[in-house]
Amino acid sequence: MSDYFLEEITQSLTHLENQQLLRSLRPLDHGNDPVIQKEENRLVIFSSNNYLGLANDPRLKQKAIKAMKEYGVGSGGARFTTGNFPLHEHLENEIALLKKKETAVLFSSGFLANMGVICGLMGKGDIIFSDEWNHASIIDGCRLSGAQIVIYQHNDMKDLEEKLVMTTSSSRKKLIITDGVFSMDGDLAPLPEITQLGKKYDAWVMVDDAHGTGVLGANGGGTAEYFGLEKDVQLSVGTLSKAVGAEGGFVACKKEVAHYLRNKARPFIFQTSLPPGIVAAAIEGLQIIQREPGRRQKLLDNGTYFRRELKNVGYHVPNGITPIIPVLIGKAEDALHLANHLEEQGIFAPAIRPPSVPEGSCRIRFTVMATHKKEDITQAIQAFRRWQKP
Ligand SMILES: *Cc1c(COP(=O)(O)O)cnc(C)c1O
Repeated sequence: MSDYFLEEITQSLTHLENQQLLRSLRPLDHGNDPVIQKEENRLVIFSSNNYLGLANDPRLKQKAIKAMKEYGVGSGGARFTTGNFPLHEHLENEIALLKKKETAVLFSSGFLANMGVICGLMGKGDIIFSDEWNHASIIDGCRLSGAQIVIYQHNDMKDLEEKLVMTTSSSRKKLIITDGVFSMDGDLAPLPEITQLGKKYDAWVMVDDAHGTGVLGANGGGTAEYFGLEKDVQLSVGTLSKAVGAEGGFVACKKEVAHYLRNKARPFIFQTSLPPGIVAAAIEGLQIIQREPGRRQKLLDNGTYFRRELKNVGYHVPNGITPIIPVLIGKAEDALHLANHLEEQGIFAPAIRPPSVPEGSCRIRFTVMATHKKEDITQAIQAFRRWQKP
């Protein structure tokens, strides 16, 4: 008897492969450094979220090891049972300070922070306005919440306002959700306009600043700090697994909201808390971010340099200020061909295809790090110069 279940899976795989959309995992032994040097071969990594080089910073490692020796490897429980160490509360305080909020609530990842916050606050009868390019975890959180979902066109304030107008008469809770920095294009949400609209139409604003935290703003507070709008963003979501160099997610908000979420957000209530080593490393990462603004400056300078040089070679690179630099190519097969070419030239950056980006806007997505040297970037530019479209 044939196994129809397995057959269906195999067919789907073949279909994906024919469309050049099948992905496979590969190990990358880089120890979080931007360069892998194996004898003569040099591979420069341009796809890490370890923006400030903190994921392998000796100080974070040392704090993690110390906490692990003191408290153990796993935390052994959820926050409401045995998993609430003083370290967790210390970390929440550090996050609140960076985000200029009263307090913060920790989650095990940024993904779960979005799921937990959205589902904790919003439900049947409420309404969410969500940017069409928001992160998958926001989309899933919205769907699971049961709230009405209104998608507005990417960063299109006219569209957002039209959609807000249509719903003003009702008294339901209204929430506008946007990424702070969009992960595929590296562009910023227009927070001045979004928070203005929030006030005008009585909606709260939630910003998922996974890529802005530690990167933008004078203290690394993120997109809201960059615009000076911390007070106008009611829910400041982020991750500790990108610039901060550790792991975990959070929302920074008012005390009452945090208290409510601790009682309502299921990923907070039912999940084992973050391990002590990770928590200690995250605290150190957040402190370094505020103490050492030079890292942030180096990161942004690397981005500016890379963008300018790529444009000089004639590639289509949107304007921007973040370390995320998309090089727009178009067709999936061309993007793949370029990615392979770059790798032969010692440059590692992935081709991004649907479903991560819309059809026809396939790209190579670069992220620079504070720890890239000028010669690393020059090597990438040289490789672009040598590419010939098939
Ligand atoms: C990476 C990312 C997340 C998920 O954060 P993790 O800590 O990796 O789970 C959420 N939102 C955005 C915009 C992201 O880029």
